[in-house]
Amino acid sequence: MLSVKNKTQVSANMLRIAFEVDVPIDWLPGCYIKLRIPNALPGGISPVRTYTVRSYDAANQVLAVDFAIHQPAGPATAWALNAQPGDQIEYRGPGKLRVDPTNGDWHLFAADMSALPAAISIMESLSLDAKGYAFLEVTEEQDRQALHIPEGIQVQWLVHPNPKVKSNQQLEAIRNIKPLAGKPSVFVAGELSTTREIKQFLLQAPTYQSGSHYISSYWKIGLTEEEHKMAKRSAAAG
Ligand SMILES: Cc1cc2nc3c(=O)[nH]c(=O)nc-3n(C[C@H](O)[C@H](O)[C@H](O)COP(=O)(O)OP(=O)(O)OC[C@H]3O[C@@H](n4cnc5c(N)ncnc54)[C@H](O)[C@@H]3O)c2cc1C
Repeated sequence: MLSVKNKTQVSANMLRIAFEVDVPIDWLPGCYIKLRIPNALPGGISPVRTYTVRSYDAANQVLAVDFAIHQPAGPATAWALNAQPGDQIEYRGPGKLRVDPTNGDWHLFAADMSALPAAISIMESLSLDAKGYAFLEVTEEQDRQALHIPEGIQVQWLVHPNPKVKSNQQLEAIRNIKPLAGKPSVFVAGELSTTREIKQFLLQAPTYQSGSHYISSYWKIGLTEEEHKMAKRSAAAG
């Protein structure tokens, strides 16, 4: 079980909840947990939602999760908005990313608000001489965060006020970069249509034929997490 310790507003549309965890966890940057949202749907159904463990304080067994607040709120978002210190929630995990996102001669990050916690925690873990580009798409200017990451990672914040409308800003930004020397390490995560378009571009661009790629959709416009998972599965099968 996780127990809510406190809540802080990270930015205009990002809420952080610190949880006390009953057993120590194995934390790696970008790892994620499954939260069972208690009695959130009619008939007492408790849906499961996936969230990145933004950080972990092993000494105190406290982990932080950053919730991107979107409206109308789904069960997880509504739960986070209403959570009070002492509230308990069941979780599973953490699960690790299937690719080590810290390898590579240079880095490319593209993330929307849902993937910002993963992208930032990975960037924070890179060696000080790491270099590359990060395109971070947020809902408003006030969602920019102070970053403590290697100076060689050039960050560009992109503002996309309505996440329910597809954005092509990350793709356009990626098209315009000057690739660095050596093998890239790519981390792209966020809305399904956006990540899919970026993947298609990277698959045919000579620069990205080597190196390591983590490209994953974290949600899809108009679909709940269950529906998004099914859409992902059927795309993979087809
Ligand atoms: C590995 C992984 C890690 C993730 N880490 C995080 C994280 O750290 N922080 C985080 O905020 N999210 C994260 N997500 C995304 C999160 O699981 C989804 O956004 C989830 O759908 C939110 O659940 P919900 O109950 O609020 O909405 P749902 O009930 O799933 O969906 C309700 C409606 O809201 C829309 N919606 C869902 N998410 C968003 C969004 N981000 N912006 C706008 N509209 C949305 C849906 O399209 C749907 O129409 C992660 C996902 C994965 C797979």
